[in-house]
Amino acid sequence: KTAIKSDLEIAQHATLKSIEKIADQLGIEEDELELYGKYKAKLSHRILERLKDQKDGKIILVTSINPTPAGEGKSTVTVGLGQALHKLNKKVVIALREPSLGPTMGVKGGATGGGYSQVLPMEDINLHFTGDLHAITTANNALSAFIDNHIHQGNELKIDHRRIVWKRVLDLNDRALRNVVVGLGGPAHGVPREDGFDITVASEIMAVLCLATSIENLKERLSKMVVAYNIDNEPITVKDLGVEGALTLLLKDAIKPNLVQTIEHTPAIIHGGPFANIAHGSNSVIATKMAAKLGDYVVTEAGFGADLGAEKFLHIKARSAGIKPEAVVIVATVRALKMHGGVQKEDLSIENIEAIKNGLHNLAKHIETIQNFGLPYVVALNKFTGDTEKEMSTIMEWCQNHNHPIALTEVWEKGGEGGIDLAKKVIQQIEKKENRFSYLYEEDDSIEDKVLKIAKNVYGAKGVEYTSKAKKQLEEMKKNGWDKLLVCMAKTQYSLSDDPKKIGRPTNFTITIREFRPSVGAGFIVALTGEILSMPGLPKHPAALKMDVDPSGNAIGLF
Ligand code: ADP
Repeated sequence: KTAIKSDLEIAQHATLKSIEKIADQLGIEEDELELYGKYKAKLSHRILERLKDQKDGKIILVTSINPTPAGEGKSTVTVGLGQALHKLNKKVVIALREPSLGPTMGVKGGATGGGYSQVLPMEDINLHFTGDLHAITTANNALSAFIDNHIHQGNELKIDHRRIVWKRVLDLNDRALRNVVVGLGGPAHGVPREDGFDITVASEIMAVLCLATSIENLKERLSKMVVAYNIDNEPITVKDLGVEGALTLLLKDAIKPNLVQTIEHTPAIIHGGPFANIAHGSNSVIATKMAAKLGDYVVTEAGFGADLGAEKFLHIKARSAGIKPEAVVIVATVRALKMHGGVQKEDLSIENIEAIKNGLHNLAKHIETIQNFGLPYVVALNKFTGDTEKEMSTIMEWCQNHNHPIALTEVWEKGGEGGIDLAKKVIQQIEKKENRFSYLYEEDDSIEDKVLKIAKNVYGAKGVEYTSKAKKQLEEMKKNGWDKLLVCMAKTQYSLSDDPKKIGRPTNFTITIREFRPSVGAGFIVALTGEILSMPGLPKHPAALKMDVDPSGNAIGLF
């Protein structure tokens, strides 16, 4: 047996087509393509204008069971399914998030798929790509500078410098920057105050950029962002500071979607990547809409499991964009189901049918959730080389016995070829099954009702509790007129509950809302359960230790 190649080695052995050829496949016109080298390009918004009367392609949303340290492979299946549809001669566009350097250098690795289902050039996409994250970092920090300067220059808006909620950002994992003091050094150097850094993908600007439907809409959303409160406890917005124009200008290229290709030359649009906890966790609305205009099928992904990613895709993104998926793919693996059944990571290589049977309760809940939304679905069993026949057939049989469509998916090992069955089943579900999509809460519901409906119908909780801080904030939100905004749940991704240790399918639990954070520009209120870090730290042995570059400039060790 040949040695298994790393994702990077596979990527480096692939031959790419010029990005013009990929654009040509989609009928993109020459002046709609802005080249960033040979294999990357930005797409002009003129495409949306030109194709505005064209029927939208069918959106397929890829989600998964609750993630485990065993890895589920959502991005890999997303890319693989796109390649499989391409092999079936469908006009397909993949739409993915842009990776953040924090996780890339830290623990998770890149976010460009894996094995023979990857988007390329993976080194570029995982590193600086077309600079979108840098532009967002700059816009975010420009706003911080404007706030500090406003206070230094006399503070006309009477900003209470103890109640500035806008933080600085950096696209790295750097726990030392979580809490900092700025403005030290005397009167010439500003007003001292406590500040802190978040990771760039947690910036509200990332969420705003990803939900914006046009440059005008981007500016309007930016202007509404709350940065601080004044000494009378009234919100101060970007509009009050008068810098929405400057911020939009800094983002004028970052708002354009990026076109790349997969190993099998399937077109992929990679654009925007908000956190899946304190934000909504899927690529930009503009990218998804453009993909739907350019392709007959769009395969896209939402972060974490269906309880977070799919819920927010459907309630926040689909609602803001006026789109809906035609089918959902729920990714599960033998390894992850074993972990949900109680197996430790060290014991994953030992066959354990009982554990799988226990773990299947987690999958069952996510299937129920997608059924609650009224959407057709297919389970994708993402095959790992160590999975045994008996383990796989246990899952396949369980699905067959419960009438859940399932496809054994081997896209990591075989590329698109390994996803043909999945692709056929997805098309079959779209064509045969009635799509009765409906939201689980209405925009008009109160914040408490929204949270309760999500907790009950998506997590399987019996109720919701609020800390006294959260209760007080509910009152303030009413006062500020934010009580009809959407809700963005920030919860651990590891459990259906708010306790990461409760794996599988917990029952008889309540969810505690600890705090709310308004993201008025994005159009939602973040409801925080438990501790959610918006600036991650690095592990003891960061992935960066294995990274290098050879004398010709080729990347080494980037997964
Ligand atoms: P997710 O999107 O769920 O975070 P990814 O698709 O990014 O997961 O995959 C995480 C890692 O797991 C990648 O390095 C990928 O190569 C690997 N991986 C995914 N599927 C498989 C598989 N079937 N066999 C082996 N490795 C896989």
